[in-house]
Amino acid sequence: MSRRIYAKKSLSQNFLIDTKVKSKIIECLDLNQNDIVVEIGPGKGALTEKIYNNVNKFFGIELDDDLYSLLQLKYQNENIEIINDDARKIDISDFIDNDTEYKLVGNLPYKSANKIILNFLNSLSKPKFMIVMVQLEVAKRIIGDEKFRGFLTVLIGIYCRSEILFKVKPTSFNPKPKVNSAVIKLLPYNKPKVDDENIEGFMDFVAKSFVSRRKTILNSISSGNKISKEIVTQLLNSLDINKGFRPQNLELDQWIELYYLYKNRYE
Ligand code: SAM
Repeated sequence: MSRRIYAKKSLSQNFLIDTKVKSKIIECLDLNQNDIVVEIGPGKGALTEKIYNNVNKFFGIELDDDLYSLLQLKYQNENIEIINDDARKIDISDFIDNDTEYKLVGNLPYKSANKIILNFLNSLSKPKFMIVMVQLEVAKRIIGDEKFRGFLTVLIGIYCRSEILFKVKPTSFNPKPKVNSAVIKLLPYNKPKVDDENIEGFMDFVAKSFVSRRKTILNSISSGNKISKEIVTQLLNSLDINKGFRPQNLELDQWIELYYLYKNRYE
């Protein structure tokens, strides 16, 4: 006898019930029989059931033990592998070779969405693209919408291009989340915009420069990174960046230029 599984808030379990939204997500995946697809948090299979029959190989990564058991029972096909693991930490190159193409999809658990996205962007085996559902506000931060641009925009922007595909209302889920959602597409670059050995230093520099969104860029870079105002002024002048800007006004490429200029001149 199958037992009822209740949604766990701690794992951000909001199950997709809207058939139109499911179909739109599947359409965006542009599936073909050669595809390898990784789904994050298959849950009860809302997307899984529309994918596995149309692809070569399907991997589902589900953290919840109860849902993992349910999925194991439900999907016993040869081309399906359900993995009981944490998508924030899993190393997907243990399952898919570095040079094998795959597509990633997921109605992501909102509490862990950023960490999951970054884990896959950082992996040696990167997806060809990701189609993922996140909170609308997070989607806006990732794509760098003018009002929401911030550290997350830079953090994810060095690895990929991103766009919002469509918005999704709370009524499309059970239980209903309190916020609106959006499906976004992330297209990883072949190489991140900052070279590997500088990523940590770059992130540290930018994170410390975002200590306050209200401070000017001159003050926030200077106080956050403990660099004199004189030096920061010289850097900003060299790159023709307005000292009165706030950190969120800078484009990703300006952060990169600024970091390399500082590093090459003063470190
Ligand atoms: N895909 C299903 C759907 O659309 O109905 C479920 C989506 S629900 C928003 C998020 C799913 O991710 C849940 O099944 C949850 O158990 C799972 N999950 C939560 N945290 C996870 C993690 N760190 N790694 C893998 N799966 C996780």
